[in-house]
Parts: sequence; C-alpha cells; structure tokens
Amino acid sequence: MDLELRGKKALITGGTRGVGRGIVLALARAGVDVVTCYQNDSEHVGSLERELKETGGDHHVLRADLSQPEEVAGLLGKVGERYGRLDLVVNNAGAISHIPYAELSVEEWGRILATNVTGAHLVIQNALPLLGEGSSVVSIGSRASDAGVPLRAHYTATKSALVGLNRSLAKEFGPQGIRFNVLVLGVIETEKFHAMPEDQKKLMAERYGAKTALGRLGTPDEVAGAVLWLASDLSRYVTGNQIGVDGGIS
Ligand code: NDP
Repeated sequence: MDLELRGKKALITGGTRGVGRGIVLALARAGVDVVTCYQNDSEHVGSLERELKETGGDHHVLRADLSQPEEVAGLLGKVGERYGRLDLVVNNAGAISHIPYAELSVEEWGRILATNVTGAHLVIQNALPLLGEGSSVVSIGSRASDAGVPLRAHYTATKSALVGLNRSLAKEFGPQGIRFNVLVLGVIETEKFHAMPEDQKKLMAERYGAKTALGRLGTPDEVAGAVLWLASDLSRYVTGNQIGVDGGIS
C-alpha cells in the first residue's frame, strides 16, 4: 500500500539504535528523507549511515545531545538549512535508569528529565518554524507510566509529562493543522534485549509476553508501522491522542 510519504521530510531523535533506528529505516524505505541524531559516537552511527545510503534518499545522521539546549537549536538549524521544512517530528530519544526512589539524586532526576522532557520540548519548539499544515509530531511514551514501576519513578514521570505536553500542543496548534500524538509502547525487543544472556532473555520474553494479549514482545518495525500511519494522510483527523503499540499489555 502506498502511503504517499515519498519526498516528505522527517526528524527522528535517537535513531542510531533501538526503536528509533527501526523508525528511521522504515521511513527511509517509504521514501521519506530523514535526519536523525545521537548522543555518543558508536559503531551504530556508521552502520546506520551505510544502511541509509543503500536505501537511497537525502538522509543525515548528526550528533546532537538533546539535553543541551544549544545543541538542539543547532540540530534544528541544520534541518532547516537542508530541508527548509518538516512534515514529521518523532521525539524518540529517551534516557532511563533504575534507582530506588529514596536514593534518587537531584542530578539523576535532572539528567533523565533533560533528555526525555526538556529535550522533547526544545525539539518541538525549535521545529515550529519548519512545521505547517499537515505536519505530524509523534512522541514516544511508555506503558510503564500507566502501570507504575519500582525504581523508575523518574523515568515514568517523564513519560507522563509527555502526555500533558502533547494534549496541550494539539489544542494550541490544531488551528494551524499540526497534529500531536503519543505512541505508548509496551516492551519492545531492541539490540539491548538481544544482547542479554539467553536465560535472561527467555525470562523477560516469558514474563512480559505473558502480560500481553498477543503473548509476545514487540519489534521496532511494529512501532514504525504506527509512525508511518501517523505520518500519512490516513491519520489526518487523529490528534491529541495516546495510541498504544503494546500487544495489548496489562
Ligand atoms: P535505546 O537506549 O536503545 O536508544 C536510545 C536512542 O536515543 C539512541 O540512539 C541514543 O543515542 C539516543 N539518545 C539518548 N539520549 C540522547 C540524548 N540526550 N541526545 C541525543 N540522543 C540521545 O532506547 P529504546 O530504543 O529502547 O527506546 C526508544 C524510546 O522508546 C525511548 O523514548 C524509550 O523510553 C521508549 N520506550 C522503549 C521501550 C522498549 O521496550 N525499548 C518501552 C517503552 C518506551 P546513543 O546511541 O548516542 O546513546
């Protein structure tokens, strides 16, 4: 099915690994020109660049730490120079840690908020001059924020914050035809999952698979499917929403 995405321009944050990489590659395969960013140099950067080159299109993989406001401004400046507009923004980059709440330092609280909330806010704010009628902004949330998870109070707080941000921006920018939605993910198999020892992997797949209606974990490509829909005209009346990509987890 042709979603008529060819030639659209997208920014996906944190696209070198995990869910973001799946989204970047799926969009590129659909003919979208993609800019993505990462925080740390790694082998994932070069391998993504190679894959994107093979796919074809006008793609750019740039270093920009979203927890640094001037780097976010620099990133969006480059996007503006290269594309002149954006049809899709995906706030995917996310930081996480597992710390007992009583021991959570204000520095660690600030570190997670800086990427997950302030970073997403600054990406959207700096992208505004490039967004127009029909543009779509997608933020990646987590079912963990509905469920509540011990040791992740700071992380879940950030994912809940994205929901409020999303709903307000949908109302503020709806009159300009810009849509805002949150994809609420269940447990997704990324490189981190595949790098686990076999017994841990099995345990995790069984434990979380059993909590889902579909009886399994999700894949980055399955998250990308929802992003493709939100990027397309098929979702033109969908805004201010949270859409679960979670296999029916509860
Ligand atoms: P990964 O840790 O595998 O990848 C995160 C990506 O974001 C990397 O490319 C990383 O770059 C980048 N990144 C992180 N911090 C920054 C920053 N400050 N500036 C720029 N780039 C940054 O994450 P996942 O793929 O697992 O998760 C992606 C999103 O999905 C996150 O928002 C996460 O909270 C959410 N999510 C994931 C779930 C899962 O099961 N995987 C479940 C629910 C939600 P680098 O390589 O340089 O570190």
